[in-house]
Amino acid sequence: MSSKPFGYVYDERMLGHECKYDNTMAECPKRMKLIYERLQKDQLLSGALKIEAREADDSEIRLNHPQQLIDEIVSLNSTEKCEEYCKDKEILWTCENTNEAARVAIGGSIELVKAALENKIHNGFAIVRPPGHHSYGKTPQGYCIFNNVVIAAKYAIEKLGVKKVAIVDFDYHAGNGTFKSVKDESRIHFTSFHGHHYGSFWPFSKEYDYATNNPNTLFVPLNGTLNSEGDYVSVFHHVLLPMLKQFEPELILISAGFDAGYYDIMMEFGQGVKAHGYGHMARLLDQICPGKTIAILEGGYHPYNYTESASMMVRGLLNHPLPRLTIPTRMSGSLLETLWNILNHHSEWYPALEQRLKQLENQQKALGLDPFVFNQTLFLGAKMRVMYDDVKKNRIVRTREWFPEMSPEQISICKQKIDEYIKEYDFASDHIDPTTEQLVAQCVWDEASRSDAFMQAAPFATFLIQEFNDFIAGKRENMMICDREMYSEAVKAGVLDPHTPITTTFDH
Ligand SMILES: [Zn+2]
Repeated sequence: MSSKPFGYVYDERMLGHECKYDNTMAECPKRMKLIYERLQKDQLLSGALKIEAREADDSEIRLNHPQQLIDEIVSLNSTEKCEEYCKDKEILWTCENTNEAARVAIGGSIELVKAALENKIHNGFAIVRPPGHHSYGKTPQGYCIFNNVVIAAKYAIEKLGVKKVAIVDFDYHAGNGTFKSVKDESRIHFTSFHGHHYGSFWPFSKEYDYATNNPNTLFVPLNGTLNSEGDYVSVFHHVLLPMLKQFEPELILISAGFDAGYYDIMMEFGQGVKAHGYGHMARLLDQICPGKTIAILEGGYHPYNYTESASMMVRGLLNHPLPRLTIPTRMSGSLLETLWNILNHHSEWYPALEQRLKQLENQQKALGLDPFVFNQTLFLGAKMRVMYDDVKKNRIVRTREWFPEMSPEQISICKQKIDEYIKEYDFASDHIDPTTEQLVAQCVWDEASRSDAFMQAAPFATFLIQEFNDFIAGKRENMMICDREMYSEAVKAGVLDPHTPITTTFDH
């Protein structure tokens, strides 16, 4: 264990970022407050060093964004202007305090990174908001104003002399802003695990499938629901850790969103990462960059999930005992399909991945199974993307009540599901990494895994397509930012061409 303290950032100026025209927003001040209070309650911050946050200045924000965006955010000095500003943005709300909070989030992240690189702390957690990983260039979106994690990474490279930084994003949503900000930057390696659902999930783009055309970008598109912490950690062992060992980062930044947690607000349509999984992922990253692994808060919306998950992640960063994690004997079918695609796609750049692919192919042969057919994937989101772009272009984005709030019954189901696994925690001080044989054996690609992949993906993708089709058919009040009333008016006025359903086979 290190003699240096753990570092953290928490500053109540960021609580001032609060939507004044809609109190149903899932990204809300209590997220960071509850996390902070939970870490205190678990005594994970006793002996830790609080790093003082500060407002980032324009030149720091310009490491990743044009002055135009900075000026726009500064100009938001009334609630009316704030809501008006969001009428051509995707899932964004702002308030008069957004400028200050967003600058503190960046300044805090930078200072924490600096403290790690100056050897004042051993790992750290920036409990900040607004989040950042969807924002890029002059495009704030997805609750994100400026991209905190990218600015911190670029600051480390440009100002602190760091040669290589890895960003690992395990938030449920694609780190699309981060990708667009770093895709041409060879000194940054970027990994994003994200809901993809064959493109039927936001941001409805083929770009976030596994084929990245960039050796430094690893996308782990999740087409199925409820992949477990064991599935995620398996992907770490098969792909991410070997990649990072070859890349040799001097600093790892975690885009720490907890919305892929088991029974976060998407419930059975979300992912299935139990809290200790976040601890194990953090622990494994710390082994690549000991003491230089800094988590920066992104999403996570069900308090019972994100407080437990954040607590476990910090335990991992502190190298405290964690509940034992089980590596599945067979990976979930849908993530296994993604893994095979990733290994095929990236093996030309990474010898360790090429070797793993060979091992899997040999196993298929030895078992008398057909080879995995590479590069067979689906993209379902094209029409959704077009509708979103048209709605933005016409400045008719719905700015309120995007998602229904959870019912008391749903909240209690989530709590119960999370309580069930907490009861099963088996704390261990040492964790044995899976052997190569175990890892290879979990990747058998046969009829069973193929049907699992299909069954795990079909219900949610079908739901999303039905939601879109229902909106088109006038049966829904909204599909996130697309609003029935404004949409119909725009169509009636002849400024918007109506969109067509993705499939016409429903309702027959
Ligand atoms: Zn998210």
